[in-house]
Amino acid sequence: MNIILLGPPGAGKGTQARRLAEERNMVQLSTGDMLRAARTSGTDMGKRVADVMDRGDLVTDEIVIGLIREQLTYDEPAGGYIFDGFPRTLAQADALGNLLTELGEGLDSVIEMKVDDEALVARITARSTCSNCGEVYNDQIKPIPADGVCTNCGEKAEFTRRADDNADALTTRLMAYYKQTSPLIGYYYARGDLTTVDGLASMDDVAGAIKAALA
Ligand code: ADP
Ligand code: ZN
Repeated sequence: MNIILLGPPGAGKGTQARRLAEERNMVQLSTGDMLRAARTSGTDMGKRVADVMDRGDLVTDEIVIGLIREQLTYDEPAGGYIFDGFPRTLAQADALGNLLTELGEGLDSVIEMKVDDEALVARITARSTCSNCGEVYNDQIKPIPADGVCTNCGEKAEFTRRADDNADALTTRLMAYYKQTSPLIGYYYARGDLTTVDGLASMDDVAGAIKAALA
């Protein structure tokens, strides 16, 4: 089963993708994570995308489609793929459709995670991540443990904030979402693949709604 998690920055795609990956033996493909990894390891591509990402703009279709193409294999993972943060443009959606067709695969479901803008801003400006395992914390609902030990990986870790999790870049990211990504909602709706879930519900309730959509 191959699925897309679609939604604005801060909707909780990453959190749900990680959970699905664990529970269903699926492989999470997050272009955001891949791009951040390229930056951390200092590849040419990583250097080229750094400014664009920090501003909150989208990197080129060519780069992200290339990243996804490299990850898709003929011996598909047992549970299938979760696309998280990809596709973000109609050109990316077309490219993904073609790549899956080439592999003799299809897209089974697109889950739209709907969250209003105010909540997104509040979530994102409060968010930090375990630099060891990627677990996401939130100043309000899930604060960084006082002893500095990550509740997920059990390591004494650093908790970092993303360079693009600031008010300016967030405005740009939201605009990019509305202008370039939200047309995908209509596109997948028309194909009959779309289910919308309330991204403001608790993490468990969102997970439950996604489970129901995939059943
Ligand atoms: P968010 O939390 O905003 O959804 P991601 O971690 O998915 O962010 O992505 C962070 C940044 O990486 C984006 O703002 C954008 O610059 C770049 N990026 C990630 N995925 C894509 C994509 N599919 N197309 C273009 N740019 C992307
Ligand atoms: Zn951790």
